[in-house]
Amino acid sequence: MSDIYDLVKRYPWLPSLKTYYSDIASKNPLDFLNDIFSPNKSPDLGNRVLNLFFDAFNNIEQISGIDFDETNIYIYLILRILLYVLNDKILSNRVANIYSKTTYNELNKENEYNLYYIYKDLDLNVIYEENPTIYKKIVLKSQEEISKTNFKISYIDYLKLASNLKDDYRKLVNNALQHGYIYIKPENLNRLLQEHVRMKLLARNNKNSINLEVFKEKLFEVQEFKNLYNSIISIWELKKDEFEYKVDIKFKEGQDISKIFPPCIREILSKAQEGQNLIHTERLFILWVLNALKYPEDKIIEVFSTLPDFDREKTAYQVKYAIKKGYTPYSCKSLKSYTLCMAIKYGDKLCTDGYFSNKLQEQRKISHPLFYIQYKQFVESIKNTSEKTNPNDKNA
Ligand code: SF4
Repeated sequence: MSDIYDLVKRYPWLPSLKTYYSDIASKNPLDFLNDIFSPNKSPDLGNRVLNLFFDAFNNIEQISGIDFDETNIYIYLILRILLYVLNDKILSNRVANIYSKTTYNELNKENEYNLYYIYKDLDLNVIYEENPTIYKKIVLKSQEEISKTNFKISYIDYLKLASNLKDDYRKLVNNALQHGYIYIKPENLNRLLQEHVRMKLLARNNKNSINLEVFKEKLFEVQEFKNLYNSIISIWELKKDEFEYKVDIKFKEGQDISKIFPPCIREILSKAQEGQNLIHTERLFILWVLNALKYPEDKIIEVFSTLPDFDREKTAYQVKYAIKKGYTPYSCKSLKSYTLCMAIKYGDKLCTDGYFSNKLQEQRKISHPLFYIQYKQFVESIKNTSEKTNPNDKNA
């Protein structure tokens, strides 16, 4: 059998976490965050959590590049905190789904001894028998299909685990029940555990919104956690609207897309052009925007070259770093919280009133500056197509 410490690293949702990693499991959330984000504790933690969210938003089946080290325990615990404060049903479902699917795939790779330990750790009334029991025989076109297993579970625990899964074949009457136990193949039991893990991540609904805000603000004292939270929100806001207006908004030599930038971007760019100073958040935002639009490195540096404290070497380093990290620019929500939203100052109708989504058949708010650009470009492309088709329209 695997070392129990290793099993807990693979499956941090096991109750044994409290026994074998009591120093981590017993901390309150703020102390926990302070600890895991302390220098050198787990340098790649933030990136690994972000990657998991990326995979979830892209509806990938399995978390990519998963590693079962101690950081994997931190990831699970931080996920629970993040999903709680993010408080978004759809987002939480996506994350809980990918996490629990990955768990299921990993459980199916375990040997029977490890599985037995896992089931027992969950306090499930499961029995393992050395010799497998044949519990079903089906004859199909003269071919016999035999189902056998070494595992059986008490029907009470089975019902508890299966309560959210409504498929007919999971009903008691459709299972091999004998003396209060159901014969079950490990992969079917693991599927029930998948649901158990999914529900654990989705737990704690019906929150009081005032308490939640207070709690969130408290956790934001840990700057790295706040940055992580904001990055997730930004990616999500952009992802949510990925859809009917998707067009290529990448930088192309000779093509000026700055005319369709939203007010928040225009304001910072014009300040830069006028040689005004930019605060740190404005610099980061504009750097991430230009990088997201695939502006070449030298063009991005050019934008900063007019700032009063411009240092080419330092800027080049920061630009390279941002390109490597691939940060997503702030969402409208974050920009509003930084008072960088200029929708009202510029009287921009798209920003203040939103747009009508043909797909959803409803008025929608702009949630991300990159979406604003996509939408504007989509509208322009429609206009251009109709002008090409009806050249006389221009003069009508
Ligand atoms: S609504 Fe969004 S896109 Fe428009 S100015 Fe404000 S932050 Fe920028």
